[in-house]
Amino acid sequence: MGNFFNDSALVTATIRGRAVTCRHCDGTTFGTRRIKLNTSGAEFFGFAWANKESLALVCNECGAIEEFLEGVLETQST
Ligand SMILES: [Zn+2]
Repeated sequence: MGNFFNDSALVTATIRGRAVTCRHCDGTTFGTRRIKLNTSGAEFFGFAWANKESLALVCNECGAIEEFLEGVLETQST
């Protein structure tokens, strides 16, 4: 397993200065995917999230996906 992304697309990420590691395999390199939050599901829960985005980190080692609200993560190209 592993190497889901080209090296050029990989990032490392921090939140408030703490490195993000994969909760499953402790991997530290991720691909990213922006996800719109203005889905019918979000509206169902009453959030005023129209046009907001989240940023998902996809672990390059095991493929686990972890999603964060926009503006939370700081990413650095590897
Ligand atoms: Zn992983």
